[in-house]
Amino acid sequence: MKRYSCDVLVIGGGLAGCWASIRAQQLGANVILVDKGKVGYSGCSTFAAGDILWWTPKDDLYSWLNNYARWGGYLLDPEWFKRLCYDIYERVLEMSEWGAPFERDSRGNLVRKPGRGHNAAVVFPGFELMKFMRRKIEQAGTNILDRIMVTELLVEDGRVLGAAGFNVRNGEFYLIEAKAVVLSTGGCSWKGNYFGQDMVCGEGYALAYRNGAKLMNMEYSNCYNSTYRYFDIYGLSRFQRLGGKFTNALGERFMSKYDPELGDGAFLHTIAIAMAKEVMEGRGPIYFDLTEMSEEDRSLSRKLLPMLFEMFDQAGVDPFKERLEWIPGFQGSIGTGSGLMLTDEFCSTNIKGLYAAGDAACEGLVIGGINGPGAINLSWAIVTGYRSGEGGARLAKSIEFKKPEDALINDCQKSTFRFLLKDGEISPQEVYYQLQESVIGWDKSIIRHRDRLNESLNRIKIVEEELIPKIRASDFHQLMRCHEVEATLITTEMVLRSALLREESRAAHFREDYPKTDNLNWLKWIVVEKNKDGMKFETIDIPKKNYEKYGIKLPL
Ligand SMILES: Cc1cc2nc3c(=O)[nH]c(=O)nc-3n(C[C@H](O)[C@H](O)[C@H](O)COP(=O)(O)OP(=O)(O)OC[C@H]3O[C@@H](n4cnc5c(N)ncnc54)[C@H](O)[C@@H]3O)c2cc1C
Repeated sequence: MKRYSCDVLVIGGGLAGCWASIRAQQLGANVILVDKGKVGYSGCSTFAAGDILWWTPKDDLYSWLNNYARWGGYLLDPEWFKRLCYDIYERVLEMSEWGAPFERDSRGNLVRKPGRGHNAAVVFPGFELMKFMRRKIEQAGTNILDRIMVTELLVEDGRVLGAAGFNVRNGEFYLIEAKAVVLSTGGCSWKGNYFGQDMVCGEGYALAYRNGAKLMNMEYSNCYNSTYRYFDIYGLSRFQRLGGKFTNALGERFMSKYDPELGDGAFLHTIAIAMAKEVMEGRGPIYFDLTEMSEEDRSLSRKLLPMLFEMFDQAGVDPFKERLEWIPGFQGSIGTGSGLMLTDEFCSTNIKGLYAAGDAACEGLVIGGINGPGAINLSWAIVTGYRSGEGGARLAKSIEFKKPEDALINDCQKSTFRFLLKDGEISPQEVYYQLQESVIGWDKSIIRHRDRLNESLNRIKIVEEELIPKIRASDFHQLMRCHEVEATLITTEMVLRSALLREESRAAHFREDYPKTDNLNWLKWIVVEKNKDGMKFETIDIPKKNYEKYGIKLPL
């Protein structure tokens, strides 16, 4: 066994985890950052198209807040939205001073480009930013443990004492004791058919849930991105606002029918519904047309997305000369409003010492029910990373270490390796496929219905009762896959049951059997936690006082 101890343990080294580590270290904490992949090369952050929403004091906070509140179905918390804007202004300047690879104009000023719902994202090549962040963390002296999958949180008497896991290459057991733990494990992608997200399977949600944490807005984990039919395209948010147009088989532009305000620049959930309806009504396939993009934006796109254009070149496709056949690509909870419930401005959860950041934390606090708001996801990762790192470091200064009991450590070790020890018959991949079948598909996530949600719940019951007991791990890589399956199973149940509970349609949650928005009964968040009988759900009112405070009129 390898045993470590630190003040703040950060689990997951995407942009949120990197920022949590940096901030905790800045405040003098001794930090360990673990990732089941390699920090700087893993996580959706690494594959991001390179847009960070950057509010500046010259922008009108009220109009931003008003728009996002309306677009997100009034599920955001205005107080958190303001925090996001003020903080991201500072953080982007800080990153810029460090030399982050942001695009600048000829006078050296940061360039802001439009995207879904905004005109204000700083832009950069995604891969370069995360390598840059890794170097920054290494320079600060943070202990980075790559390729360690965390499988258990050590929680005693409602307080987190660290985490346990294993090295995915050699199977060595790791125990890391900590005074505070930040969960920045990303979202849950269900390994859907979209690029750069297979590594995030809801492990953070499951780790926290199993130990009593509350999660919120899980019904909004149903994001469909959209992409080229033959390989994945990222950067759609920017493309949409730089001249990109959606057309159907008849050559008609159809987006303004579904979103008269944003048209071709609509959010992902509107695009998904529009595509599904156009195809169902016989006007498919759908195309995305970039032929009218300006020369300047074409060369910027090539610069920011070199890998994508290499693929186009290799395939002999010129997206600026021909329209591209376009299909939906499932993205699950990446960049959506679901995740761990935050109980204060330092991203605490309801478990003492446990913090959440990035896609693991409930981004609905700033986007409500929007799926795929361009560029805010990375701002959220930065801001919550920073705040959770600060929360963890402050707590660490104020409390003593508490050693976990040996019995707890033994239980964690047994649980970590349990899939290796028994003779199973089924590979984790086969089981994962069943989970994908429960949520992926226009009729499961884009247009929901009680009967289909119940069908999916029945399917995952079989997974839980009949398949999970039979999965086997023939090596440590497969062991990682087994833990991923288990985490995605828990996430799937939360999502389906929350979606069943919300008997209305609001923003990205569309119920065929309840097509109207019900403001009288559903200006509410759905919260889930574990109790002795399984999942317990409750609803809580959105913070109406904060809407009043910022002069935002609720649709009542
Ligand atoms: C292709 C693509 C393009 C995108 N482009 C943009 C964009 O331009 N702008 C924008 O705002 N948003 C974008 N998004 C969304 C954005 O990338 C994510 O919302 C954001 O990166 C989340 O950051 P994070 O740090 O929370 O998680 P991630 O970057 O996903 O990192 C999570 C990390 O946790 C690790 N991990 C998970 N489980 C465990 C475990 N059990 N043990 C140890 N480690 C674990 C993973 O290996 C991973 O490295 C894009 C998403 C995709 C997929």
